[in-house]
Amino acid sequence: MIPIKEELARLEEQSLKRELQSVYQTEGSRIFIGDKSFINFSSNNYLGLARHPQVVEAAKEVLGHWGAGATSSRLISGTTILHQDLESALAAYMEQESALLFPTGYQANLGVITSLVGAGDAIVMDRLCHASLVDAAKLSGARLFVYPHADAAGAENVLKRTASYRRRLLVTESLFSMDGDFAPAQELLALAKAHDAISMIDEAHAIGVWDHAKGWDISVGTLSKALGSQGGFVASSKDLIELLINKARSFIYTTGLSPICLAAAQTALGLFQEDPKPRTKVRALSKLLRETLQAQGWNTLGSESQIVPLFAGSVEEALRLAALLKEAGFFAPAIRPPTVHAGECRLRFSVTADHDEEQIKQLAASLKPGVHA
Ligand code: PMP
Repeated sequence: MIPIKEELARLEEQSLKRELQSVYQTEGSRIFIGDKSFINFSSNNYLGLARHPQVVEAAKEVLGHWGAGATSSRLISGTTILHQDLESALAAYMEQESALLFPTGYQANLGVITSLVGAGDAIVMDRLCHASLVDAAKLSGARLFVYPHADAAGAENVLKRTASYRRRLLVTESLFSMDGDFAPAQELLALAKAHDAISMIDEAHAIGVWDHAKGWDISVGTLSKALGSQGGFVASSKDLIELLINKARSFIYTTGLSPICLAAAQTALGLFQEDPKPRTKVRALSKLLRETLQAQGWNTLGSESQIVPLFAGSVEEALRLAALLKEAGFFAPAIRPPTVHAGECRLRFSVTADHDEEQIKQLAASLKPGVHA
């Protein structure tokens, strides 16, 4: 038997050991870790809504009425009218018939994929899909086929090769979490339709910042990024949602989402639909960061969004750049395997509405040629 200490030592040797950071406060774009404060470029609070006064107030109010937890699983007595109101609002927003909340986006992905496909079925998935989608595919027992990243022709090849499978599910993210680029959603949807596959799109990073993809059989999302709360959801046809209520183990065997999360997300959903300014700001700031970094000779991969990677390649180089930035007062941890493939390590900057132009310029200035050499 391999001792656990040995396994940890091996991770350490490969510079792949991870450690939790103790954050003792956040304030706008600032994060306080240990005895230092940094400008945080690692938060998914894209629109700054997690601390919006109306979001905080709504959460406090339901806390008084409902208490801290749902106190039961959804199928027992953990479905409150707050769950149902948010599900209706999410279905309407995503332009789907119906929606179902899960405690996390991870569980939403597990629930929908394992309920839909199993042995004898095939999943056709982008190479860079998130771990929750990959894990769901493995757990389902269906055969997983991976196509090259954002490559509709590659997806078509797989669809042609898998025609004999009982049921096929085409899965992509709309905005990719580590590259910050978009899937060719319309082409993929047309292919799924032409090849009689079910189409599923994960909108986790796009919600609130970009328009969602329309016409997909299944949209999944999270409340934990631009919505500033916690929880996940599936939006789809009434029939599919009914099937999930009956089959999705990650929905059935877990406690319903807390009223605090529901109220916060419900309020945030209203806020970003009313006010496009934070979204416009995030798009403009991330464009500025991307273009400045590119002008300085950095590779920002295919980024087109508020997620701006800075390609490093090796683990060591990514760690070196992260340390250099930390020294300069910026928090943007190195992204290493297994989050990305070996040799594709990077920094990943998440731009949010809490940032300002000056911070973007300072970040880029810390990465000027000569500064990093
Ligand atoms: N899908 C994607 C593409 C993600 O990036 C994430 C979270 N990083 C999830 C799903 C899971 O969402 P949650 O954090 O709500 O579990």
